[in-house]
Amino acid sequence: MIFKCKNCGGNIVYDPDKGTMCCPHCEGIDTEEKIVSTESIKTCANCGAPMDSVVLEHTSATKCPSCGSYVILDERVQGDYEPDKILPFRISRNKAINLLRDEFGRRVFTPEGFLSNASVSKIEGTYVPFFMYDYDTDSEYRGTGTKVRSWTSGDYEYTETSYYDIHRVMEADFKGVPVDASDYMDDQYMDLMEPYAYEGLEGFEEKYMSGFLGEKYNRSEEELAERAEKKVGSAVETLVDESISGYATVKKKRFDVNAKKTRVEYALLPVWEYVFRYHNENYKFHVNGQTGKVVGKTPVSKEKVLLYGFTVFGITAILGSMLRLLLVALL
Ligand SMILES: [Zn+2]
Ligand SMILES: [Zn+2]
Repeated sequence: MIFKCKNCGGNIVYDPDKGTMCCPHCEGIDTEEKIVSTESIKTCANCGAPMDSVVLEHTSATKCPSCGSYVILDERVQGDYEPDKILPFRISRNKAINLLRDEFGRRVFTPEGFLSNASVSKIEGTYVPFFMYDYDTDSEYRGTGTKVRSWTSGDYEYTETSYYDIHRVMEADFKGVPVDASDYMDDQYMDLMEPYAYEGLEGFEEKYMSGFLGEKYNRSEEELAERAEKKVGSAVETLVDESISGYATVKKKRFDVNAKKTRVEYALLPVWEYVFRYHNENYKFHVNGQTGKVVGKTPVSKEKVLLYGFTVFGITAILGSMLRLLLVALL
């Protein structure tokens, strides 16, 4: 499907700054009309050109290489693939670029002109598929704790060790534990990009995808539940650990966590993805499309590292000689 402007017929997209559909051609607001595709998903719903090169196995929204329209692939956002929720982009393309510039400016060792000299090979906003799991947990912990008391009486030193049985029974419910459902998206990157403010999740509407790329889930929620359960398990462990204090030593005897999955929602989360080419190397950056958090490594300038080293060394040397002068004056 494609969203067309009722005023001018142009491709209308979702504008994160305005929070509405906005036509980039005539600036019409909320003038969209949904045109459903009748052809195969590999054919552009606007110009009819083949899109084989951009419609990959899991693509759910893309940009037509011929006419540049943003096309949403009907059957990959409907039926089994219809998301329950979507977190619409809050950060616009320009804002994301400015955030990156600020971030590069702050990084001491980034070479001068990295951003201006690097050729931007890709800047796209993408909706990444996620499953959000709810779990109810019951857990029971048993362990032994010690407390030690020492004192001296006469010629003797006494040490008393007391042993305590530690028993904890805990119930904890978790809501919306996120696990990314894209193989392409590096789990490490996605974990670093958290947190998202999940209260911003909206009921899914296709129009939010217009102007962006998207992917449907690559794996089922059953396959990915294991990762959610692991996250829940370590959260429970932290909660129990925090409730045990005041002992010299603690030894765990047994710890049973019983986690019951109560609900799963399929959601799309916004990510800006940038690939910079600099001195024949690719540098990948991600910007959280809701909060603006930047994740990625910039190249390191050897000259700047050296210069920084000299400056610190220089200051130490000056301080050293001042201290000597002071000593001479005192003597
Ligand atoms: Zn228009
Ligand atoms: Zn087209």
